[in-house]
Amino acid sequence: MLAERMNSLTPYVPGEQPRDRSYVKLNTNENPYPPTPKIAEYLSRFDPEVLRLYPDPASLKLRQAIAEAEGVTADNVFAANGSDELLAFAFYAFFDGERGSLNFPEFTYTFYPVYCDLHGIPFQKIPMKKDFAINLEGFLDNPGCGSVFPNPNAPTGMALSRSRIRDLLKAYPADRVVIVDEAYIDFGAESAAPLIEEFGNLLIARTFSKGGSLAGLRLGYALGQSQLIEALTTVKDSFNSYPVDTLAQNLGVLAVQDAAYYTDINRRICDTRDLFMKDLKRQGWEVLPSLSNFVFTRKAGLSGEDIYLALREKGFLVRYFRHGGIEDFVRITIGMPEDMQALAGAMAGLEGKR
Ligand SMILES: *Cc1c(COP(=O)(O)O)cnc(C)c1O
Repeated sequence: MLAERMNSLTPYVPGEQPRDRSYVKLNTNENPYPPTPKIAEYLSRFDPEVLRLYPDPASLKLRQAIAEAEGVTADNVFAANGSDELLAFAFYAFFDGERGSLNFPEFTYTFYPVYCDLHGIPFQKIPMKKDFAINLEGFLDNPGCGSVFPNPNAPTGMALSRSRIRDLLKAYPADRVVIVDEAYIDFGAESAAPLIEEFGNLLIARTFSKGGSLAGLRLGYALGQSQLIEALTTVKDSFNSYPVDTLAQNLGVLAVQDAAYYTDINRRICDTRDLFMKDLKRQGWEVLPSLSNFVFTRKAGLSGEDIYLALREKGFLVRYFRHGGIEDFVRITIGMPEDMQALAGAMAGLEGKR
């Protein structure tokens, strides 16, 4: 019954959305604060009549609002139904096996290999540095058909500076696309966006899901020179002309235009993160330096699964990974200050058995 190509698919497994009891949910990097109050106000007087018509296929008002905020023009902006969709389009548009493998870090967002399987793109995992930083030199050793990495990286939370990314781009073949996935750019790291003017092969992926507190809306966008944006539009229009619905376009504009609100809540998250990291370190946890809304931590003698299970018992949901090399870590989303304080208390009681 199934097409042959189904045999090569291994779908992405998102963090669990449990229903058995209530948890402090710190496993999928959602924002603990509500989206801008402008959205609640808009929805309270929303007229469903606007849903009778198809959305603007080009998402022009949203792209213009983003362009204005970023100091570019709308033809440098592509809007998508979540950055996952935009990554799927970008992989299709820019990468193929003819020019070699797609490079991404050994420990990174696990959707990348899934899209490679979907589109039949061979890939190569570039080993991390000893301290779990992304090894950009490794990306240059064999540029392949292109590269993708998050900055800050997930699940480590560690960031690269803009000048390091610029060095990579200067040495990288100009006809191969480099995607910098900035899903976590609102938590203190330097964006590569100012480099778009200089490098025609740089595509930046952004989402409203983390910093924008709109994971349920499914809205993401790309920034790049117009030839890259045009290619993404060609893929979009070969798949679904209207991926971004009217509500998402309108709410996205409101979110982009309330930068002050988001600066405030995301600064709070950074403050909570820094306190939480300090607490954990004081208790003997190893914590990787994070510029994201999560921390990646471990303690000698405990596996990631041990920690996950013990914290689940205490009502906290965190995430662990089975990949060799990071199986003793857990990734913990930064929530409300009081929740993180309670969690630090719960983690103080965890001691290694081995
Ligand atoms: C969460 C995340 C995304 C996906 O964002 P959506 O817009 O919700 O699809 C993309 N990349 C990374 C690294 C992420 O962590």
